[in-house]
Amino acid sequence: MPVCQNCHQKWPYSKAFKRIMWFNGAMECPHCGEKQYVTKNTRKRSASLSGVISFIIIFSALILDLSFTSLAILAVIVFISASLTMPAGVRLSNNDEPLW
Ligand SMILES: [Zn+2]
Repeated sequence: MPVCQNCHQKWPYSKAFKRIMWFNGAMECPHCGEKQYVTKNTRKRSASLSGVISFIIIFSALILDLSFTSLAILAVIVFISASLTMPAGVRLSNNDEPLW
């Protein structure tokens, strides 16, 4: 779970999940109210994860010869499991780091 870099308290899952959905801008720490930003590495990791997910879905479509319905179900399952596990990997920073 993400840890506030100001008060060093862990953020609750729900807060981390919201943080994942809105990557840009600051989010206030639920404990101390200090603004926190997602680190550059976290943003890069989530970008690569999206790439891996797309690859898995395309690869499955080609190799397993899935029907459109099965593929859509697979895409939803992969997307949901990625969204549910990602908040645990979020790291926070006191400063907004430019991506490049
Ligand atoms: Zn805090």
